[in-house]
Amino acid sequence: MSERSQLPWYRRVYRWGQTNLTEIDPIRYDPFWWREQWQRTHVEGIIVNAGGIVAYYPSTYPLHHRALYLNDRDLYGEIVAAAREEGLAVLARMDSSRADERFYLEHPDWFAVDAEGKPYREGELFVSCVNSPYYDEYLPAILTEIIERSHPEGITDNSWSGLTRERICYCPNCTRKFQEATGFRLPKGKDWDSPAYRQWITWNYARRVEVWDLNNRTTKEAGGPDCLWIGMNAGDLVSQSQRFRDYRAICERAEIIMLDSQARTNAKGFQSNGEMGKLVHGILGWEKLIPESMAMYQSGQPSFRVASKPEPEVRLWVVEGVAGGLQPWWHHIGAYHEDRRQYRTAESLWHWHAINQEYLVNRRPVATVGVVWSQENVDFYGRDAAEDRVSLPQRGVTNALIRARIPYLPIHADQIEPSDDGLRLLILPNLGALSDAQCDRVRRFVEAGGSLIASGETSLYDEWGDKRSDFGLAELLGVHATGAHHGSERAVAEAWDAWGKHTYLRLSPELRGQVLGPQVGIEPPVIGQRHPVLTGFEETDILPFGGRLEVVRAEAPMISPLTLIPPFPIYPPETAWMRQATSSLPALVLNETSSGSRVAYLAADVDRCFGRDNLPDHADLFANLVRWALNDQIPLRVTGAGLVDCHLYRQEGRLILHLVNLTSAGTWRAPVHELIPVGPLRVEVRLPPGVPGQSTQFLVADRPGVASLAADWVRFEVPSLTDHEVIVIE
Ligand SMILES: [Zn+2]
Repeated sequence: MSERSQLPWYRRVYRWGQTNLTEIDPIRYDPFWWREQWQRTHVEGIIVNAGGIVAYYPSTYPLHHRALYLNDRDLYGEIVAAAREEGLAVLARMDSSRADERFYLEHPDWFAVDAEGKPYREGELFVSCVNSPYYDEYLPAILTEIIERSHPEGITDNSWSGLTRERICYCPNCTRKFQEATGFRLPKGKDWDSPAYRQWITWNYARRVEVWDLNNRTTKEAGGPDCLWIGMNAGDLVSQSQRFRDYRAICERAEIIMLDSQARTNAKGFQSNGEMGKLVHGILGWEKLIPESMAMYQSGQPSFRVASKPEPEVRLWVVEGVAGGLQPWWHHIGAYHEDRRQYRTAESLWHWHAINQEYLVNRRPVATVGVVWSQENVDFYGRDAAEDRVSLPQRGVTNALIRARIPYLPIHADQIEPSDDGLRLLILPNLGALSDAQCDRVRRFVEAGGSLIASGETSLYDEWGDKRSDFGLAELLGVHATGAHHGSERAVAEAWDAWGKHTYLRLSPELRGQVLGPQVGIEPPVIGQRHPVLTGFEETDILPFGGRLEVVRAEAPMISPLTLIPPFPIYPPETAWMRQATSSLPALVLNETSSGSRVAYLAADVDRCFGRDNLPDHADLFANLVRWALNDQIPLRVTGAGLVDCHLYRQEGRLILHLVNLTSAGTWRAPVHELIPVGPLRVEVRLPPGVPGQSTQFLVADRPGVASLAADWVRFEVPSLTDHEVIVIE
């Protein structure tokens, strides 16, 4: 502990709490009660509203709108003083994004306007322009005022990055600065193929990084080298892109990331929280901290700001976040609630976290699979269809891996190394936009003996989203693009009875050398040995598909265990029979290189199909493919019924395994009503050198485990898993 107390606050504070003040709170904030709540929940830091849209202290800036009931009181300062008495770190909260009409009338040129010069508004407020003196002069003055009054550890900001990508600001500052920086006039609208629009996108990104740096210069000048400005960042890449927040550039300059990702969505599931933790740690560093705002109120769809979120729903979000390396931060809207149940939610979880914190930070993930991502792919390939093109294939891959209990890591396309910390397989889920340099990185990884699975349009575009004449990775994948495709990538493409989605995949009867060519008629019963990627499908010769298939020309010799069955009618039922039993179009092409690498190209987007349609066949097929490509190099085996998300980490001399029971989430929609235990689960973990595996300790059940050792593996049983378990193997 003494060593930890020497660390700066951004490396030492593991649990946070935030009472997000509303304008009425100056007359109802109960300082004694909240101090007790800080103690009950073992927080080490709090986030307190200071200024921005609403000031909670008597600011000397007359346009800085004071909370309705504040008058001359310094509620912010009083809360800071109480926190200091409790020994807590304090972050002052801002919101830079907008101001009231009074402000707009005095400084109309500080606010974002449309092409007609009309201000962009959010409700009654006006959106401030990131290129105006509001950001360059006014906000730095406010930051300085806050720091000089109360010396917080740093400053967060609820909404700091200005207008989203959907709206272009035509104010005089933007017009002038854009022309000076790029030589172009501001684009008239969205046009991903126009150089001016592309420059507008990158210019916007660069400005947000400038704002980040400017604010940090300001806070450090006013409050010393550890007084950081840390904004807030989103829990998914599409949101970051919408807001021009370059996650990599931000992480390169950040000591800590405050993650504003308060709840799950049905589409993404709880697992998205663990994944986001690992994705951000991957670019930020595993020695740093990523507190995440976790809503104690009913956030999401629908939202009820002052009602309690069902406890099991919060619980699973929190334990998934902790499993992904995030630090818990409770969040209430308003300082007084008639629904008092929300005050109990954090207590036991934060308490457990405090007892076991040494196992929950400063660790490295153990995985042999890397799922590759990049934000420029979200922007310039995803464009306005990022959900279909980027998110669904990504989600399909990671959900299939979680379902198969295969540990994986998100890995940035610029960070692929030939022998990366135990990674044996890279998965590129429809990663359309890859630069030449990124393609080279993938090639070097495979040349060094790594394996590869790529799907769909992977590498068919450069970093600007311009289409190449062939896949950038054509030689490696053993296929060439033809420019044609079957089916659609879109989630809602056609009516249910359209033929276009009524397609299937045919399973090749032969282990090798599938004979391709148009055949009409009925396929004879399948005999012979199939390729291992088709394991488990012995009782079927077809799989449902319904997705998009890239038409590729394969290089001989190739192994193609799956081919497309072209569409046929679905309605009326009398017509629903297969006109053509198969086609010459490969859905999957497999290669093995002389260096032992296994390379799979999925022309059929079963990854996206699983992300969208949730059919178990697609996940099983993908998991088979991963096992084949890895040649069984998986450090973990977990058997037993249930949907269990497994996260494996390493610290000096020990392994740490998180098991999160998502079975309850899988049975219904958000929110979870009750937790359903699963178990027993049989667990086998491969021991790396330096981890003897002599002892196991269950951190949730709070008891030692009973384990056996065989070769390099430790085996034990988890009798029952309700929400989560964390097992320390030493
Ligand atoms: Zn502007």
